[in-house]
Amino acid sequence: MKHRILHKVYEVFEKWSNEQADLTLVCEKGCSSCCTQNVTITALEGEDILRYIMAEKLTDWFSVKLTQNRNHQRPKMTTNDFAKACLDGRDVDPESPSSESSCPFLENNSCTIYPVRPFSCRLFVSSKKCGLGQPALIPDYYLEASTATTQLVEHLGQKEYWGNMLDVLLALLDISEFRETSEKFNNSVIMQARMQTLTAKPLPGFLLSEEERARVAPLIEAIFATEVDGKCVEDILNGK
Ligand code: SF4
Repeated sequence: MKHRILHKVYEVFEKWSNEQADLTLVCEKGCSSCCTQNVTITALEGEDILRYIMAEKLTDWFSVKLTQNRNHQRPKMTTNDFAKACLDGRDVDPESPSSESSCPFLENNSCTIYPVRPFSCRLFVSSKKCGLGQPALIPDYYLEASTATTQLVEHLGQKEYWGNMLDVLLALLDISEFRETSEKFNNSVIMQARMQTLTAKPLPGFLLSEEERARVAPLIEAIFATEVDGKCVEDILNGK
């Protein structure tokens, strides 16, 4: 059920994004400067990627990709940890050194796992061409909407692995479903990756400014009102 909710969240966010009349995007297939190794994911998203890799018989390719470069960014706290600290009035610095290296799943400027790319990849857009020394241009309301949705995705995956995509994918190989893939890796690499993940936390409240709250609220309401198996997502997330 959690995977179905996750996919609904992707759908509702994409629909909301497409409906923003003032959001003009220049992103297109082949532009990939946002595809670095700084992507964070939940275990649910990692399971989708691992299942896709096994279904597409990409296990050998995947084992090479994941062991090529292990010096990627590792966040110090999850999005919901950061949100809780801010809402509690604590002064925290969530920044960790980011990596300029390309995502290992990027080949010929295209994403090889596009159908199952995680939310961190789905939210990334720009209103002007970005590249080296040219950061993306993203309106504040969109940034706050994507942060709120990221918080919901983390809430959905709470108590499970959360962290850099490359660490979470390796950590998940302890699940028996992925044994065929785990056999391609040295056990110490999997253990090390597991130790470098954090745990996804429940939603402590949204990080919304007064200025953007009205603009973002319809998105959150649309996610909460979405039905999965005859129940609305808000009730499911609240454990009802
Ligand atoms: S998973 Fe795909 S979309 Fe995400 S950063 Fe890697 S190549 Fe880009």
